Amino acid sequence: MTNTHGLGHLDVLISGASVAGPALALNLARHGARVTVVEKAPALRRGGFAVDFRGHVHRTVLTSMGIWDEIHARQTRMGRQTVVGADGTPRVDLPAEMMSGDVEIFRGDLAHIMYERTRDSVEYVFGDSVASLTEVPDGVEVTFEHGAPRRFDLVVGADGLHSRTRRLVLGDESRHLRFLGHYVAGFGMPNHLGLIRTGRLYSEPGRCVGVNNYDGDPERAGALLVFRSERLAYDRRDVDAQKRILADRFAGTGWEAPAVLKALQDADDLYFDAIAQIHVDRLTQGRVALLGDAGYGATMGGMGTGVAVVAAHVLAGELALAGGDHHAAFAAYERLVGPFAKACQKISGNAGPFFAPPTERRIRSRDRMYRLLASRPMAGFFKRLTEKAATGIRLPDYPA
Ligand SMILES: Cc1cc2nc3c(=O)[nH]c(=O)nc-3n(C[C@H](O)[C@H](O)[C@H](O)COP(=O)(O)OP(=O)(O)OC[C@H]3O[C@@H](n4cnc5c(N)ncnc54)[C@H](O)[C@@H]3O)c2cc1C
Repeated sequence: MTNTHGLGHLDVLISGASVAGPALALNLARHGARVTVVEKAPALRRGGFAVDFRGHVHRTVLTSMGIWDEIHARQTRMGRQTVVGADGTPRVDLPAEMMSGDVEIFRGDLAHIMYERTRDSVEYVFGDSVASLTEVPDGVEVTFEHGAPRRFDLVVGADGLHSRTRRLVLGDESRHLRFLGHYVAGFGMPNHLGLIRTGRLYSEPGRCVGVNNYDGDPERAGALLVFRSERLAYDRRDVDAQKRILADRFAGTGWEAPAVLKALQDADDLYFDAIAQIHVDRLTQGRVALLGDAGYGATMGGMGTGVAVVAAHVLAGELALAGGDHHAAFAAYERLVGPFAKACQKISGNAGPFFAPPTERRIRSRDRMYRLLASRPMAGFFKRLTEKAATGIRLPDYPA
């Protein structure tokens, strides 16, 4: 172990170039580490859902990364979203601060900002994937699906909810993925409702249809479908099978569901997954660490993006504090990020039942509760409630 804060002697491989991967790359590169990011997609993935930041911890971290202003420059400026009845009548307005935090940005735009900041100092390898990891006394031997084998000092799995890195070091996904009884889908569609920076949500027992427009494009909107379900067996690469599941589950649903289902048939950007959480006993194993959704993912509603950037800041900061000693740094990472991420995950448990309450009665009581929470006297209370988890970590002072 060296007693300097520089990490110039450290070779780090990061698997995944979405949010967590580039965030760690940015933090590590600033400390001088040599960083390689391997991403299975052929190029940086665009699009994705709008993700938000809230509270002083997110702000502190994004400011220290030097991207706070750029995030604001590219924020969605999404307005309120409205829960409607079957005939489109407004039932509850959900204010922007409730749904979109202090600042909101598309996941793809955030990834792009961090990629642009690091592309000259970090090696990005697209279209490849880690195939095997073998720990040896002074590093990790890594083989790739396409590239030649290489050795790194440390490997970080930032490869999402279905992380291969996690599978390689901690075993099969079924041991770590906790299904929360709902599925979620999203895709682009024509903006036939003429929405501009606003959204509509319609719930029937166990189902929710949303149409939203985050970016002000008069032509395009986004569709959101959430449904309550037992665990489904399907091929995650078979998009047509996923479309059939959705068409089946939403057949006969009211409001704009027929138009949304029609658009689904033409969608070439369908996202479909279970609402689930990742729970692991430990975030590190030897010289390998898990970061972001790979270690404590929550699909939606768990502030996964905020957690990922805070965790990247902590992991890089602890490595710098420890002069690259991964034993000390990983122990501190587990201690600081573990409970923080768990508390944020807890909130995400409400996402499915929020969008798709199981009965008419529950839909009405959700609407009543959110009418109250969105009312002026309660607005501060709601903000404090969501910020409590987002700010539930005390950041140590790391070397600049
Ligand atoms: C419907 C929905 C709504 C959401 N809403 C919000 C929100 O409002 N606020 C919020 O904060 N968060 C939200 N999230 C969560 C947020 O998108 C994630 O928490 C965040 O993107 C985590 O980033 P990540 O980098 O850990 O993982 P991911 O974004 O999943 O990225 C993983 C990356 O790894 C790559 N990869 C996968 N496997 C491999 C492999 N074998 N080799 C190499 N690369 C690989 C993938 O291609 C991808 O680029 C939402 C998520 C969903 C699904």
